[in-house]
Amino acid sequence: MERKPIKDDIEIILKRAVEEAVTAADSESLENWKTKYLGRKGEINGLFSRLSEFSAEERKDAGARINDLKNKLEGIYGERKEGMAEKRRSANLSFPGKSPSIGALHPVTIVTREMTAIFAEMGFGIASGPEIETDYYNFEALNIPAEHPSKDVWDTFYVSEKDKILLRTHTSPVQVRIMEKTSPPFRVVAVGKCFRKDDVDSTHSPVFHQMEGLMVDEGINFSHLKGVLTHFITRMFGDSVKVKFTPSFFPFTEPSAEVSMSCNICKGGGCSTCHKTGYIEVLGCGMVHPQVFRNVGYDAEKFTGFAFGMGIERLAIIKFGITDIRYFYQNDIRFIGQFS
Ligand SMILES: [Zn+2]
Repeated sequence: MERKPIKDDIEIILKRAVEEAVTAADSESLENWKTKYLGRKGEINGLFSRLSEFSAEERKDAGARINDLKNKLEGIYGERKEGMAEKRRSANLSFPGKSPSIGALHPVTIVTREMTAIFAEMGFGIASGPEIETDYYNFEALNIPAEHPSKDVWDTFYVSEKDKILLRTHTSPVQVRIMEKTSPPFRVVAVGKCFRKDDVDSTHSPVFHQMEGLMVDEGINFSHLKGVLTHFITRMFGDSVKVKFTPSFFPFTEPSAEVSMSCNICKGGGCSTCHKTGYIEVLGCGMVHPQVFRNVGYDAEKFTGFAFGMGIERLAIIKFGITDIRYFYQNDIRFIGQFS
């Protein structure tokens, strides 16, 4: 019988084994490959079992060739196995992980912190007061007459109309509470929720936030008021902003003013946000009415002071170019998450 030279078989097996090892797509096919060639009943052992067919001389050469093939196949197996593990590792590293979503500050909180920081730089302390107030603190002590429209049952949430207990309509009652407990000189801001019976629309909400400010000392005049508020607005909106004081009326200040700033959207040219006027109203202010001082037992001849109040949402709307106040309260994280 003509024997096929084992040298040829070895070359055929090597060629086939390399092709199959390269195309083995996963570790399961690679393990099957290893069993097929290097396993106990595999092709390498099949070759070794044929050695008995050879003469002692031929056997030595053939044995060396089979061992060489075996080493090559073991080397291929090791490389392919390592290659697959490396691919798995790098695939795992590059696969995007499930990172926890990180919260952001609410725009009202961001603006509140910025505002209080600016007043803190100017030496203002920070105070707070109750959200449920009496008629006295919310209206009477602030020189708001009984017939004033804001006292109307339709405009105010009364907790008890009989006992004249209500949700505060502004943060100004905090002024009275501070003055009752503090002797001048002092300067302070207070931030908190206010409540009015407004129907919800793009500019009104029954719950909103205000900042109140009060500075009392001997010799405080309107120039101090103008200086503090102009500094605040330019710190908040930039040096290029123009600030305008327009005479106004509030029962608890005299004289009173409304403060506007040049529209930061159209830069004063006129747009829908500023109603084509080039200016946006920012806050109300004035010199504390002497009657308010008398109501808290201050010497109105000795002390003067100024007070101001502004809506936090309004400042956030101006600062961030928000078009609708309702966005603040809808808890839609696509909106409230974009201001941090
Ligand atoms: Zn404008």
